[in-house]
Amino acid sequence: KVKRDKMTILVLGLNNSGKSTIINHFKKSNEQSAIMVPTVGFLIEQFYTMGVSIKAIDMSGATRYRNLWEHQFKNCQGIIYVIDSSDRMRFVVVKDELDLVLQHPDLCNRIVPILFYGNKSDLDDSLSNVKIAAALGLENIKEKPWHICSSNAVSGEGLDEGVQWLVQQIR
Ligand code: GDP
Repeated sequence: KVKRDKMTILVLGLNNSGKSTIINHFKKSNEQSAIMVPTVGFLIEQFYTMGVSIKAIDMSGATRYRNLWEHQFKNCQGIIYVIDSSDRMRFVVVKDELDLVLQHPDLCNRIVPILFYGNKSDLDDSLSNVKIAAALGLENIKEKPWHICSSNAVSGEGLDEGVQWLVQQIR
């Protein structure tokens, strides 16, 4: 088991998927303990709360940043992968990016749990978890525990349930 004070959770996703909104939700519930770190480029936000370092990374940023954020993979204990469940146009990109994460040398041989948020589930054209899982081929993930949760980051619905699963997997 990893020590709590060494824990890092990466929040990954394309731009506009809802990462900042999700981060804000968790910051609000732990406001006093959150310590902010200034961010640049690909890094949307970084803060520490209750011994956990949370880093949100925009995967759709410039590719020249890619090596910089992939560098975070070796030190992370959990991943939150945020999907805009209504953005059908970009599902292929979401899958390609996920496959790159899963195949990355610093992650492919490690048991790092992945929480998927099927975010924006409140929108009329959002896909169900079952359809998202099929579109992304989640059943092919064998070595890592994963879980998919519908969320509405604006109202906060589904967010806590998802994180509870993730934390249980890590501790
Ligand atoms: P980021 O680029 O991944 O950080 O995405 P943001 O958190 O900035 O969200 C992008 C936009 O989507 C903002 O206008 C949010 O208010 C909106 N948004 C985020 N989550 C949801 C959601 O669950 N439902 C709806 N309807 N809008 C959302």
